Amino acid sequence: MATPDPDAERVLADALPVHLGSAAGRSTILVGAGVVNLVSALTLLRAGHDVLVCDAAPDPRDGAPWTAYGCTRGGGDGRMFTLTEADSYNSRARTADGASNDLLTRPVSDGGWRLARSLSDTELRWAEEFHQLPPWLADNYNADIFEVNRRAGDGWTRLLASDPDLFETTGYRDVILRLYSDEEYYRWHVARNEKVGAIRTVLTPNQVRDGYPALADACGDGTVAGGLEVVGFTVNIHEFVEKLVGLLEAEGARFRWGTTVSGIAWASPGVADGVVVDGEVLRAPNIVVSPGAYGREVLRGTASHELVQGMLGVWLTVPNVEPMLDHSVKISREGHRAEETNVTLGTGEHGEPVLVCGAGYGWTGADPTNIDGAELDVLFDALEDTILRFFPKAHAAAVRSGLLERSRRHCVRPWTATCLGVFETIPMPDGGALVVTGGHNTGGFAQSPAIAEAVLAALVGGKDPMHTRYHPSRPGLFSR
Ligand SMILES: Cc1cc2nc3c(=O)[nH]c(=O)nc-3n(C[C@H](O)[C@H](O)[C@H](O)COP(=O)(O)OP(=O)(O)OC[C@H]3O[C@@H](n4cnc5c(N)ncnc54)[C@H](O)[C@@H]3O)c2cc1C
Repeated sequence: MATPDPDAERVLADALPVHLGSAAGRSTILVGAGVVNLVSALTLLRAGHDVLVCDAAPDPRDGAPWTAYGCTRGGGDGRMFTLTEADSYNSRARTADGASNDLLTRPVSDGGWRLARSLSDTELRWAEEFHQLPPWLADNYNADIFEVNRRAGDGWTRLLASDPDLFETTGYRDVILRLYSDEEYYRWHVARNEKVGAIRTVLTPNQVRDGYPALADACGDGTVAGGLEVVGFTVNIHEFVEKLVGLLEAEGARFRWGTTVSGIAWASPGVADGVVVDGEVLRAPNIVVSPGAYGREVLRGTASHELVQGMLGVWLTVPNVEPMLDHSVKISREGHRAEETNVTLGTGEHGEPVLVCGAGYGWTGADPTNIDGAELDVLFDALEDTILRFFPKAHAAAVRSGLLERSRRHCVRPWTATCLGVFETIPMPDGGALVVTGGHNTGGFAQSPAIAEAVLAALVGGKDPMHTRYHPSRPGLFSR
């Protein structure tokens, strides 16, 4: 585990201005009700803030069509915490000889990640930044991302102790089984997971077969090269956010659903005055904007504007047939189009046990609706192939019942070219602060308690390493 280097911290702190709020104004408007801002709302509420949350989408408890929601409520009903959940992905853009390639601009059907129908010059520059990040810098950023995962793990432990009901009634499952289809990649991951203190047990394919009869077919035909039981958990995220919204309301938070914030109102250049809804300025001493991959308009005028772009993933659900899987699983297939697949134990419409499977990387550019339908189908085919290889009986049952086709969903993760999250602080007139958070790639759920702590600290004048490590100008320090 990387320990913070005080010299590096000082360099970042000297170079990157952070505007901390004063503790005076304990009233906060939050824009966005995805999991990141909902966990921040709970933290602020319990620190004595008066909280108003605005979201363009409907109340998650209304059960509107999945397409009406953001990433958290819009995708499949499972999310995972592991110590490597948010990660650095820049090395994927390198060929074996270390040269950078065109991963983001090559279509999914050609082995790349491009899902966008067309791309602007700004988007192409963003892709270039992703491709060209030097390996040593990506490693440096990766250590910081993993440190946030670790801190978030402590936050989840605290939340589990203070609010067990939030987890017990939303499908909480402890310990993740990681599976690998390639031996070399498996060995690399054993070392990596060991480094972050994630490993509980290292398993040979035979041990996986004996411990997990649901995987006997995949272990028997050589699909599984090795397994690991690691620290982590899953929840059924739809129930989790519904429950969390109820808890927030019960503790005094107010919500305005179906409320689109069109932008930030500026008191003067660089000083935020409020947010604009239906042409009116909503004001509060503090504002926290966490719009996921949908922040292009609302973040105009901030340093975070266009730093966060969309990376779509696809979801399919299959029945958890006998012999049933009893742990959630993360599957790694190096070089496959569904390279990393999370399989969460869940419950179907009629209370039946299901496996909620999510995977794939499809870059949409800055517009999360910029999706080529034919390329999207290729991602669904890739996820289906993984389900077929690892859970052939469940796949066959899902095809027969029509569940495989019915359960097709996608959602778009907020992503940055450096894979670092974004944490921006902007002064407000009466000593408060406007905070922007986002871009946590594959780990927005996983990192949310650590983000919440950093948000609270920023609003009450406290320091948090995330303020500089996820500072939107940090990547610029290197290119100066
Ligand atoms: C296939 C797949 C699997 C994943 N698995 C995991 C996992 O196992 N673990 C994990 O940690 N992460 C996982 N992720 C990533 C995770 O889902 C996201 O990082 C997370 O949901 C993002 O949450 P958010 O709150 O940042 O954004 P969102 O959930 O998108 O929320 C943003 C909200 O802001 C609202 N909004 C946006 N603009 C405005 C506006 N102008 N006015 C008002 N409201 C606005 C939107 O309506 C939306 O509700 C996965 C993603 C995918 C695609």
